[in-house]
Amino acid sequence: MKRLQDNISGATRHSLHEASHLPRRHIAAIGAILLFLAVVAPFTPSGNVSANRTEELPLPTISQSTVNSEQPSAAQPTTIEVSPLPPATPEKPVEEITWAFYQVRPGDSLSKLMSRAGFTDRDAYIAGKTPGGSLTQLYPGQTLGFATQPNGELAEIRHKLSALESVVYRASDGKFEIERELKEPEVRVVEKSGEITSSLFLAGQHAGLSDNLIMELANLFGGVIDFVLDPREGDTLYVIYETLYLDDQYYSDGNIIAAAFTNKGETFSAYRYTDREGRLGYYNERGESMRKAFLMAPLDFTRISSNFNPRRVHPVYKTTRPHRGTDYAAPKGTPVFAAGDGRVIEAGYSKANGNYVFIQHGEKYVTKYLHLDKRHVKANQRVSQSQIIGTVGSTGTATGNHLHYEFLVNGVHQNPRTIHKKLPKAKSLSANELPRFLASVGTHQDGLAQLIAAQQAESLARLDATN
Ligand SMILES: [Zn+2]
Repeated sequence: MKRLQDNISGATRHSLHEASHLPRRHIAAIGAILLFLAVVAPFTPSGNVSANRTEELPLPTISQSTVNSEQPSAAQPTTIEVSPLPPATPEKPVEEITWAFYQVRPGDSLSKLMSRAGFTDRDAYIAGKTPGGSLTQLYPGQTLGFATQPNGELAEIRHKLSALESVVYRASDGKFEIERELKEPEVRVVEKSGEITSSLFLAGQHAGLSDNLIMELANLFGGVIDFVLDPREGDTLYVIYETLYLDDQYYSDGNIIAAAFTNKGETFSAYRYTDREGRLGYYNERGESMRKAFLMAPLDFTRISSNFNPRRVHPVYKTTRPHRGTDYAAPKGTPVFAAGDGRVIEAGYSKANGNYVFIQHGEKYVTKYLHLDKRHVKANQRVSQSQIIGTVGSTGTATGNHLHYEFLVNGVHQNPRTIHKKLPKAKSLSANELPRFLASVGTHQDGLAQLIAAQQAESLARLDATN
């Protein structure tokens, strides 16, 4: 049902978006009417028919298209612009509004662009002072389009702020009328699954997921899965997400709707949900928030090429004191994240620790990060979860590039790999949100279940083929 709704709303958005093209057709229609008037007006008793457009407009148009195209242009200097047009036969007018588009470059101003397009400073001045307009704030990469009437006059300016948003200026009575156009991308729901053969990143890429989407997945599960140490061959990944299309062309990925990761036979699921107050979050099938107080692995795992490197699974133990943390071998320069929100209590250098950072989280918890190549935070600084606090290195007593990570509760070292199970439960949806949440995730649960079944069937088929 939800999927169906998505499709329906997708269709509605699409038609809205279709509607956004109407104004341009409108312009074409107005242009056609004007042409018609231009052609017919001289033969009608009343010449006032077209006078509701700008005052200077009708005359040159009439002279161009009907009176005599051979007429010396000196008599009507304003018609020079349109002289290249072939002489129009009265029944088949060929004159139309013409568009020219210019990319905004660094240092461009409205008057520069408009003079490039053949318009005067006065045109630029009038367009620029349109109330609520956007033309005084031009940014490189944006596009400005100018529509020119057959008589050379400016009919319309189109300021494309982004692929989704434009501001249209229509010339009317010596000023501009403004209209904002928002394109609603069409949403298409996509389902993908993949099997881990070497790393989550590669599995995601094989499944056709963008790097951004893989990062989002990693963030989503970062509180329940250690993507450096946990993944095993045969783990599987499932994701249902939105893709956005503009004019039938892929534009970008949208939101992850639901995702699951099966690690060593255990499946973790996450569902996107907006509560009655409009707060958005991801929750597991029981309505518990996916955002945990601490990350499982406090570093950017995407820089680590393989999850099956035995040297990494078996930590580097060659420290001079008892080993009380987890070691993550990773390339020098790999970003190290604050495992949770907190305050830096120490950031410095010692012979044993090298560059190190200690963070206090609430009353009870401290996390420590050793052997950093660079420190990115100072003592007393507040940090938020996933904020980069330094980079992996081999400073101090370290045999190779790795992050040594410690987790202390009330001053006592704990195993960071297992402490999470003992931490207070993450925030859950309240009892009055839960039924609504469960109803909203129901169909996606089915979708995930189907993906999981399909993946298992595929694995079985592959096993059969090799036997
Ligand atoms: Zn260590």
